[in-house]
Order: sequence, then C-alpha cells, then structure tokens
Amino acid sequence: MTELECPPGPGNPAPEPVEIRPTARLVNHTPEPEVTVARAARLCYSPADLEDLNRDLDLHAARRLVTRLREMGHLSPFEHASFQFYIEGSRALLAQLTRHRIASYSVQSLRYVTPERPEYVVPPAVRRDPQSAALYHKRMLEAFGAYRELLDRGVPGEDARMVLGQGVATRLLCTFNARSLHNFFALRCCRRAQWEIRQVAYQMRREVRKVAPVLFETAGPACEVEGHCGEGEFSCGRYRLLRRRAGRAGGSPPG
Ligand SMILES: Cc1cc2nc3c(=O)[nH]c(=O)nc-3n(C[C@H](O)[C@H](O)[C@H](O)COP(=O)(O)OP(=O)(O)OC[C@H]3O[C@@H](n4cnc5c(N)ncnc54)[C@H](O)[C@@H]3O)c2cc1C
Repeated sequence: MTELECPPGPGNPAPEPVEIRPTARLVNHTPEPEVTVARAARLCYSPADLEDLNRDLDLHAARRLVTRLREMGHLSPFEHASFQFYIEGSRALLAQLTRHRIASYSVQSLRYVTPERPEYVVPPAVRRDPQSAALYHKRMLEAFGAYRELLDRGVPGEDARMVLGQGVATRLLCTFNARSLHNFFALRCCRRAQWEIRQVAYQMRREVRKVAPVLFETAGPACEVEGHCGEGEFSCGRYRLLRRRAGRAGGSPPG
C-alpha cells in the first residue's frame, strides 16, 4: 500500500475497505402512476374536463386503459408517471446509466465529498478467482492510498480523484419517466448488457412492478417483450428458446 502521511500503525490503522454491492431502491414515484397515465390518455380521446376525466377512473379502469395504450404503442401518456431511484454502484455503472439521456441525475461528487475509506465494487469474475481478487483488492487499496496522499499534498479533490479506478463506488439519485424506463429495461435487462447495470436494471424493474404492475407488465428485453432480438451475431439466442417454449405451450410467441 502507498504510504499515507499518517502511516498505518497500531494506533492508526489503515481504513478498512468496504465492498459496495450494486443496488437500486425506489425512493419516490408519482402517486397512482397507472391512474395518472390513464387520465392523460383519456384526455386525448374525450372532450371532457378534469372532473369528467376523473369520473369512474378507478384503478381497474386505469389498468385496462394502460394495457390498451401499450398494445397500441401510444406511449406518450406513460411520460406523466415518474420514478426516482437511489442507486449505489461503480463509476463504470454511472458512465453507462447516464448514457440514458431521458432521465435526471444527481450524483455524489468527489469534488465535494472526500471518502474516508476505500469503497468499491467487486465484479463476480474477480471474486471467483482468489488470485484475481487479491490483485484487485491490492490495486484498489494502492489507488486509495495514492488518492489520500495527493489530497495531503494539496492536490484538489477534483484532480486527486483521477487516480481512482472505475470500480470505485458512487451514489446517485435518478428519476425516469415510465416510457424512458421501458426503453431502459429493453436495453439493460438484455443479457448483452454488462452485469452490473443489468443487475441494477432488474432491481429497478422489480421495484416499479410493485407499485405499477400493469404499467411495467411487459417491460424487459426485446426477446421477452417482442419475441425477437436485434443483437444479430451477438445474440445470446434466448429469443429462440422463448419462441420454442411458447410454441410447446400452445400459445403464440411473444410479439
Ligand atoms: C448492450 C449495450 C452495449 C452498448 N455498447 C455501447 C458502446 O460500445 N459504445 C457506446 O457509445 N454506447 C454503447 N451503448 C449505449 C447505447 O448506445 C445508448 O447510448 C444507451 O443505451 C442509451 O440508450 P438510448 O439512447 O436509447 O436512451 P436515451 O438517451 O434515454 O434516449 C431514449 C430515446 O430517445 C431518443 N433520443 C434521445 N436523444 C436523442 C437525440 N439526441 N436524437 C434523436 N433521438 C434521441 C431515442 O429514440 C432514444 O432511444 C451500449 C448499450 C447497450 C445496451
């Protein structure tokens, strides 16, 4: 480990590293998301005012309408329901998440927040192999030691953070509307997506399905939702399996 200004010793132990498991939690959402979407859709098709729109719009009626909208591909009303998540994971995860532009993000800043101890994500492929794991932890601790040393030398946090690797942990809040979430799940629940964002995407899907099951009933990778795969030669082939299964069950394949 790179020597810190106060070298680790009996009275001054090295800060314990903390492993961060990628997680996503639903923090907040539009009240009655399915009714909200249905109300917006009703307005498109009726001359009604707000009172008329709300009349008879119970959850059952709202869900029927949401299902119809999904089938018709009339998805703009989905944009009226928003979902806010608290996410912990690596900076590599952050880079991929923020490629999804139809969302809002607030990210813990390494300019203003100085971590007191090394916090990082350990990929399963590293964890599986003890030698890889030992190398990974060693490099993480060295990088954190260098980071602290740069700070102690007066290098600003915004520059010192450059020495930290992509596995270093970050925390963020992000808000997606339901339409953007459908796109996110289609891309990131796919087996071709990197493991960490895929894991987080499945957690997000589980969370939103608890509060809006019909709105997200068909959310997921194209193989599940549409019965085809756009990954061409990179396809994992799961869509063929799903088609065969649907055929054996006597139903029509998805899509
Ligand atoms: C398996 C996988 C591998 C990937 N590999 C790479 C890679 O190697 N390199 C790389 O750079 N990225 C890669 N990506 C990221 C990918 O290209 C997208 O940037 C990311 O998934 C966000 O998708 P999106 O643009 O649909 O989402 P959003 O940004 O949320 O956009 C949602 C939708 O809005 C519309 N939209 C948004 N902005 C615009 C705009 N400016 N103009 C027109 N329409 C717009 C589009 O219809 C878009 O689908 C990968 C993604 C996946 C899932």
